Amino acid sequence: MRRYSIWSLLRNARSYHEGWAEAWRSPEPKPEYDVVIIGAGGHGLATAYYLAKEHGIANVAVVEKGWLGGGNVARNTTIVRSNYLSPESAFLYDKAMELWPGLSRELNYNVMFSPRGLINVGHSHEDMTELRRRVRALQLNGIESSMLTTAEIAKKAPILDCSPTAPHPVFGGSWQAKAGIARHDAVAWGYARAADARGVDMIQNCEVTGIRREGGRVAGVETVRGTIRARKVAIVTAGHSGVVASMAGFRLPLTAYTMQAFVSEPMKPMLDTVVMSSKLVSVSQSDKGELVIGMSTEPYASYSQRGSLPEIERVAQTMTELYPCTRRVRMLRKWGGTVDVPVDASPIMGKTPVENLFINVGWGTGGFKSIPGSGFVFAHTIATGEPHPLAAPFGLDRFASGRLISEHGATGALVHGE
Ligand SMILES: Cc1cc2nc3c(=O)[nH]c(=O)nc-3n(C[C@H](O)[C@H](O)[C@H](O)COP(=O)(O)OP(=O)(O)OC[C@H]3O[C@@H](n4cnc5c(N)ncnc54)[C@H](O)[C@@H]3O)c2cc1C
Repeated sequence: MRRYSIWSLLRNARSYHEGWAEAWRSPEPKPEYDVVIIGAGGHGLATAYYLAKEHGIANVAVVEKGWLGGGNVARNTTIVRSNYLSPESAFLYDKAMELWPGLSRELNYNVMFSPRGLINVGHSHEDMTELRRRVRALQLNGIESSMLTTAEIAKKAPILDCSPTAPHPVFGGSWQAKAGIARHDAVAWGYARAADARGVDMIQNCEVTGIRREGGRVAGVETVRGTIRARKVAIVTAGHSGVVASMAGFRLPLTAYTMQAFVSEPMKPMLDTVVMSSKLVSVSQSDKGELVIGMSTEPYASYSQRGSLPEIERVAQTMTELYPCTRRVRMLRKWGGTVDVPVDASPIMGKTPVENLFINVGWGTGGFKSIPGSGFVFAHTIATGEPHPLAAPFGLDRFASGRLISEHGATGALVHGE
């Protein structure tokens, strides 16, 4: 692993980083790999890393149409938690929670994981019924979560209006202490650097335009830089998963939506936990001091990474109602991503109708938190050809058998189509 002394840092700063070694190589694609992973987002990169580390499969290419980490992995609001309703989801997301605390050490890269706790606020009796149900289900599954009173919420998040006259009254909420945030692009860069160090090729600016099949089996991918043959191929393309699946001749039961977020100007520390207000807005304060504000999806299907102004206005207004002290705070910047939401709001992971073609998509509005766990179990699936026990319930076959895993409402945002 490359290390820099303070002198080399100063020298590189003075020379405008000339001679600064790249964190990962930019190789030309080889004609053939054992595994080609389509998509250098969080899930694709983590899968490549665990394939190399856990299964000794390093003859792997991660093929990315744009730049590594340019997708949703670095466009999200970085919330990490495992408070999902169904046992299948709770255990899968909790696998990620098990890996998050050691991730910086594992990758030798500071991913700034900050387990500062998360409050889900209930603003109605219906919200409270739903939160109680979720907390009890989690407790039954042995996963840490508890209920909070309004007074306890006011103590943990003093800037939230918990007064009896609040426009969005606070009825109470739920709490997960081990939840928190992490630095999103550091997660992508950390996995990329660690995978590269184990021999994985990161091929950027290389859009996949076709999936090559021979006799019902996958044989590689067609790209804008030519054909790359592979024994196994994995589709890990998040918002564009439907488009890539159609290249292999099958359809996915999901819809792509634009989802936005924005940050405020940096301020002194005012919120040291994460707060999700059911269907309204989610907020945390970054280490730089910006309030990181999560929004809902746009109400129409789209592959755009730019959302609409009305949604920004709605959320800005809601922010000032929930947090009156933010009334004069200015918005610094906003952005959007494309989220792929399956009909049951749970990810799709496993085999496909094409032999040796695997898929890991449909993480929708909540796939940042799951990256370490997803990469770990999906690498197992690709390496062994059989789903990891934690991934088995999330196969494409559930849409034929009817064993759907409904996680509608698991996200704090209003997800259109749910
Ligand atoms: C505004 C917003 C807020 C969010 N907040 C949270 C949050 O707080 N917590 C949470 O857990 N989740 C959150 N999410 C969801 C989370 O970001 C996604 O579920 C997750 O990042 C998706 O997985 P990924 O990182 O692998 O996707 P991506 O980073 O999108 O990776 C997919 C990659 O595939 C590439 N690709 C697509 N088509 C092709 C092709 N034909 N050839 C080659 N490459 C291709 C894309 O360019 C992209 O880089 C949020 C999402 C958004 C948009």
